[in-house]
Amino acid sequence: MGRVQGKVALVTGAGSGLGAADSAALAREGATVIVTDVNLAAAQAVAESIGGGAIALAHDVSSEEQWIAVMTQIEQRFGRLDVLVNNAGVVLSADVEDTSLEKFRWVNSIMTDGVFLGMKHAIPLMNKGDGGSIINMSSVGALLGYPIFFAYSAAKGAVRAMTKSVAVMAQVKGYKIRCNSVHPGAIETPMVQEAEGRIGEAKDIPAGVLPFGTPGHPDDVAALVVFLASDESRFITGAELVIDNGVTIRPF
Ligand code: NAD
Repeated sequence: MGRVQGKVALVTGAGSGLGAADSAALAREGATVIVTDVNLAAAQAVAESIGGGAIALAHDVSSEEQWIAVMTQIEQRFGRLDVLVNNAGVVLSADVEDTSLEKFRWVNSIMTDGVFLGMKHAIPLMNKGDGGSIINMSSVGALLGYPIFFAYSAAKGAVRAMTKSVAVMAQVKGYKIRCNSVHPGAIETPMVQEAEGRIGEAKDIPAGVLPFGTPGHPDDVAALVVFLASDESRFITGAELVIDNGVTIRPF
């Protein structure tokens, strides 16, 4: 028996990086994964490679119409949704002075609106089944003052706060839904390589305790996502789980 055996899980932005690793790990542990991305070809490649009955759907998370269409398809095909990983994201390297209103709205349309819409449209379907686990990908950017990630940090701060609001709402309304935010820092993915201008330099990361400053691997985040998706974490809701090899807790 896998740790998420029989669960139906939707992962957004799953054609690359963390979303692809989360999808693969959930499938390995027995979930049927709906792999969605604005880049359909990338989502299809991931769904084919992970197996376990995974399907791929084209899905721009900033569009409410597309969220409704994705939920309708999931309900018709599987009749339930147990896990939502709101993972899709983009990065913009600009401080407040260099951020246009248009760019600010673009970043927030994907990461703030996208997470809001995901939760709004997933909750009714989760409630038709046995409830569920919502996992929202925030960032250490929601916790620290990064000058050059102004709009990105604004969106990730909103994700952190929306998570806690939904976690408490679910309890107040008696829903069997947990909602947590994950705050990665410096995991080797195309996004981080782009932000740091080092396209194509992903390295193998050794197992065991990592020295400070060593980047993480997408599988490090996927392990946490599987735990939050599984019933092993049934007593955890409204939490912000930092996964950054200690970067945010160092006083020097
Ligand atoms: P990535 O660039 O490898 O993957 C992001 C994916 O999101 C891509 O497949 C892209 O096509 C998709 N996407 C972009 N716009 C979309 C849209 N409108 N609708 C649907 N999909 C869309 O990046 P990643 O590093 O894997 O990041 C995944 C998530 O983790 C993001 O939310 C990111 O902010 C967060 N995060 C990553 C790190 C890190 O160190 N890599 C740190 C903190 C937070």
